Amino acid sequence: MVGQYQAYIGGNFTNGGISETLASINPATEEEFARFPVCSSKDVDLAVTTAREAFVGSWKRTSCGDRARILGQIADGIRAHSVQLAELETADSGALLKDNLGANIAEAANCFDYFAKEATNLKGRTYQLPFGNFTDHTAREPVGVVASIAAWNYPLVNAVWKIAPAIAAGNSIVYKPAEDTSLSTLLLARIIDETDAPKGLVNIVTGPGAVTGAALTAHLGVDKISFTGSTGTGRIVMGAAAKNIKGVTLELGGKSPNIVFDDCDLEKAIAGAMFGIFVNAGQVCTAGSRLLVQKGIYEAFMDRFIHAAEAIRVGDPMNPQSQMGPLVSQTHFERVSAFVQRAKDDGARLRTGGVRPLGLKRGFYFSPTIFDQVEAGSQLDQEEVFGPVAAVIPFHTEEESIRIANATQYGLAAGIWTRDSVRAHRVAAELDAGTVWINTYNIATAGIPFAGFKNSGIGVELGDEGLKEYTRLKNICIDLGDEPIDYFS
Ligand code: NAD
Repeated sequence: MVGQYQAYIGGNFTNGGISETLASINPATEEEFARFPVCSSKDVDLAVTTAREAFVGSWKRTSCGDRARILGQIADGIRAHSVQLAELETADSGALLKDNLGANIAEAANCFDYFAKEATNLKGRTYQLPFGNFTDHTAREPVGVVASIAAWNYPLVNAVWKIAPAIAAGNSIVYKPAEDTSLSTLLLARIIDETDAPKGLVNIVTGPGAVTGAALTAHLGVDKISFTGSTGTGRIVMGAAAKNIKGVTLELGGKSPNIVFDDCDLEKAIAGAMFGIFVNAGQVCTAGSRLLVQKGIYEAFMDRFIHAAEAIRVGDPMNPQSQMGPLVSQTHFERVSAFVQRAKDDGARLRTGGVRPLGLKRGFYFSPTIFDQVEAGSQLDQEEVFGPVAAVIPFHTEEESIRIANATQYGLAAGIWTRDSVRAHRVAAELDAGTVWINTYNIATAGIPFAGFKNSGIGVELGDEGLKEYTRLKNICIDLGDEPIDYFS
């Protein structure tokens, strides 16, 4: 049976004005299992209007303690519905059920708990003026109505990383999930609806980016946009924001270097390289897709890396034995396949994978894929695949590794594998990346800031710095004396 899901606008579950729907396809079975509405510009307008009413009517004056209490209710609701959320997420996205049941749901709930605490911790400062008898202080206040849009790779976590800080800081929000994976966010709306959150505080509109997303980013009633997606769409969103000078936070694409020095702990580095590129079938913005390996250990590393990749159990994401599920959609499967074919046509050396795994006739499965001796500057070295495709690049010296690592339009993340802690710090300081992991990879959680440099984004997400992005800074200056300003006297 095909389930019917509804958008959430002004505290009402609705099919939207035009009753057009999109299908949710299970990437493991290729079957349609649900439908959800295409929200039109009228629906978006209603969502922004009710978000404004919720903001002005109550939320901006709700105490931080009460805001924190409601965020806590949402966290509890996520935990109470964890199995339902995880199963729905796996059916919709193809991500492993064990990951959804484990780290992903835990992160979603913890994120609301974390920002509940941070809501009570927003601080201003006092200043002294070098003249007169003034006192001066700053206050952090909410910006108003936030519009937010995100990608499909970790649907619930992506949504929560936007919604929790936005409302914790005192804003209302209209959120649009990606059209390939909208369902867990719509279930989250049900959870939020059961809390004391005022109607219209959180609105979920669904539909294609070019229709619903574009209407949302262009809306003049929106005060700020927080976007996660590709660099190309980020540029369009930034253009839309220019219309009424909305603030933007953009978390965009990456082609992150994961640098393995020959003084590393080889076993740890191989496990880290595997996790860096193959977790979630490589559909991770920070994926360590450019694997830079020093010449001294190159052959030993490659033998073990290829062997480990070939041992990954690709299969049904509902099965706890599976280690890698399918790609999110047929379109994405075709995109990754075409990328691999182009790389082969360009002469790149395919060492393993590059095809649908044997025995998996249905589903958008793609084998862990490794190219090696990849040339710096080639398409494989430069373009984001967003799939399980590693481009291994040999290097000789530390200086060369830094030069190759930084020679990209992106600057999202990087990894360093070495036993030499001084080298680790020296290299980390030179890398153009918003996050650098040393002897680890892909560590992210609500409490630590996350930001992309260069074409990987603007602004900060998460942590106390990320919360500030949902506030505006007001300066308040008070004259403590009785004397009038004597300028015109
Ligand atoms: P995408 O840019 O195609 O889509 C992202 C979102 O934008 C979707 O919800 C889509 O509907 C919407 N959208 C598309 N066109 C739009 C428009 N004209 N106006 C408004 N909204 C529009 O990206 P994708 O393919 O869904 O996701 C993959 C990309 O996201 C990769 O580049 C990946 O690196 C990036 N990503 C970045 C982060 C990060 O935190 N830096 C996290 C996850 C994914």
